[in-house]
Amino acid sequence: MIAGKKENEMIIKTRNKNELNQYEALLSRIRPDHPKYRELENEYARRKKGYFGEKQVDYYLEELAAEMTVLQDLSLSVDGKNMQLDNLLISRHAAYIVEVKNYSGTILFDTEIQQFTRDDGNHEVGFRHPIEQAELQKHRLQAWLQDMNLPLIPIHYFIAISEPSTIIKVEGNKAEIAKVVAHAAHIPNKIKKLESQSSNQQPIKHQKLGHYLLQANRIRAYNLMRNYEIKLEDILPGVRCPGCGWLGMERIYGAWFCHKCKMKSKGAHKRALLDYFLMISNTINVTECKRFLGLKSRITANRIFKSMNLIYIKPKRRWTISKRKQ
Ligand SMILES: [Zn+2]
Repeated sequence: MIAGKKENEMIIKTRNKNELNQYEALLSRIRPDHPKYRELENEYARRKKGYFGEKQVDYYLEELAAEMTVLQDLSLSVDGKNMQLDNLLISRHAAYIVEVKNYSGTILFDTEIQQFTRDDGNHEVGFRHPIEQAELQKHRLQAWLQDMNLPLIPIHYFIAISEPSTIIKVEGNKAEIAKVVAHAAHIPNKIKKLESQSSNQQPIKHQKLGHYLLQANRIRAYNLMRNYEIKLEDILPGVRCPGCGWLGMERIYGAWFCHKCKMKSKGAHKRALLDYFLMISNTINVTECKRFLGLKSRITANRIFKSMNLIYIKPKRRWTISKRKQ
C-alpha cells in the first residue's frame, strides 16, 4: 500500500531536529581543543541516539495517525514547570502518552522494590524509574487540562523501548510491567486493545483538543552558545568546502573556491549561513555576513541574502530566515 498524505493527516506536530542541528553546527565550528568540546560531543551523541530512537517509535505509531491526533515532542507549561512529552496521541476515547526509552543491553524492572536497572554488558546502572516518570507526566497533563478548564479525559501511558534488541526482564509482577512497557512495535496493538475496550458516552473532539495543545506548545528557545558559555570569538567563521571539509573557501567570480582541493561550488555559503542562524542569531546584517563568510564586498552579501530568499527587516537593517520576531 502506498503511504499517502492522508495517513499522516492527523500528525499535527512533528518532531524537530533543531537542537540536534545546533549541536552539529557548533561542533563543526569550534576547535577540538576547546574546553567545552568534549562535553558538547558527548551530549550530542546522547541526543542523537535519543532522536533516532524516537524516530523508530514514530514509525510504528504512524499507523494510528489515521484515527487519532498525534503530537510529537510536545512542551507544556504546568504550574510554572516545563513538561515535555515524546508523544501524545488522542483518540475519540482517550489520550495516550508514549514515552521513548533508549536502553541497550538488558533492562530489569523489579516490582518488589520498585527498582529499575540497566545492564549493558559491562556495568549495571540504576535509573530513575520510567513508570514513575510517566505517572508523573499523566498527572501533570491532567493538571494542565484542569488549568485550561478543559474536560478531563482518560489518560493512559506507555513506555516504548526503541531498540528491538533490548532485553526486557521483570523481577516480580510481570503483568504489571507488561501492561505499560513494550518494544515499540507492540505499542500500537496495546493502544488498539484499550481503544476497543472503551466506550464513552461523549466522544472526545480530539482534533480540536490537539490544536489547542499545539497552540499551548512552548517552542524552546535553546541557545547552546549561552548554555555552554561559548564566546563569539570561539566560533570559526568561513565557508566550508563540500568536497574536503576545509573551512575558508574564497569567493571568486560568483563561486566558492577551495584552495585545498581546488573544488568550485556555487552554493557553499548556504550551509555557513544556516550554521550562523542556528548558533548565533536568527538575524544577520551585511557586516556580520561579510565577516562570517569572508566576503570582500557588501554587494555580494546583499546578493546572497536575496538569492536565499531571506526576509529583510527594514527598521533593523537585518535579514532573517524566519518570520518569527527576534
Ligand atoms: Zn576542498
